Amino acid sequence: MPELTMPKHIELDHNMIEVKKLHKSFGSLHILKGIDLAVHKGETVVIIGPSGSGKSTLLRCMNYLERPEQGYVAIEGEYYEDPEGYGGRKRASESHIARMRSMVGMVFQRFNLFPNKTALGHVMAAQVTVKKVPKEEARKRAEYYLGKVGLAEKLHAYPSQLSGGQQQRVAIARALAMEPKVMLFDEATSALDPELVGEVLAVIKELAAEEKTMVLVTHEMKFARDVGDRIIFMDHGVVVEEGPPEVIFNNPSHQRTRAFLDNYFNSH
Ligand code: ADP
Ligand code: MG
Repeated sequence: MPELTMPKHIELDHNMIEVKKLHKSFGSLHILKGIDLAVHKGETVVIIGPSGSGKSTLLRCMNYLERPEQGYVAIEGEYYEDPEGYGGRKRASESHIARMRSMVGMVFQRFNLFPNKTALGHVMAAQVTVKKVPKEEARKRAEYYLGKVGLAEKLHAYPSQLSGGQQQRVAIARALAMEPKVMLFDEATSALDPELVGEVLAVIKELAAEEKTMVLVTHEMKFARDVGDRIIFMDHGVVVEEGPPEVIFNNPSHQRTRAFLDNYFNSH
């Protein structure tokens, strides 16, 4: 009798992130127009595209910070919202959202640190309040993750005593300490002075090397090419094309991608 073999594509059921036919509008503005996207475990996907194309909105949907009207986002096969609930589609419960969100860490352009909290305090807080990690354990993890982003010497520093790059690294450590399955970065270096960008990119690069599953939105094209396993080019709320960095940067199929990249490299 022939041996039964499992088809390879069954793996696709275990995509870390799956986005299907996603639509999001703000009032009468249709922003995301049917996004399909899968992110595999261990993959670094970089989303590029003009300002206003919907990159942040897409990332925010991956965290349910925005609620799409159609389509779905699933994290390891689990939906935020039942996609079949047509006509009766319900907002997910707070407890379900909280549990799903704990799988997804997010780092924004703005670091959102509190002036009266130390680096250690920031990285401990969410662990204790959201994940109910005991304080001593949370402190150990906080020290570990602050060390990982190169801030072992700054555990007791307040935001005002840290540079922008250091503050952003605290924000990264804070997200990592929750031990999410996926990390999302939305223009994590665009609020930084140019000389501080490198230290933050270095941390992200190290995470990519460790095969952390990540989705990055960036307008640092050289970095995107360097760190991305796959590049997604978005324009006007659609994925125009995607592929390995060599292809997207050297030989894109679409005129819009080419124009965007030509414009970027001519001015940088
Ligand atoms: P990108 O990150 O690619 O620059 P965004 O996802 O931030 O694009 O925005 C896409 C479009 O959606 C923009 O035109 C923006 O003005 C609009 N938009 C984003 N968030 C909101 C909101 N909360 N309310 C209304 N319009 C929004
Ligand atoms: Mg944006």
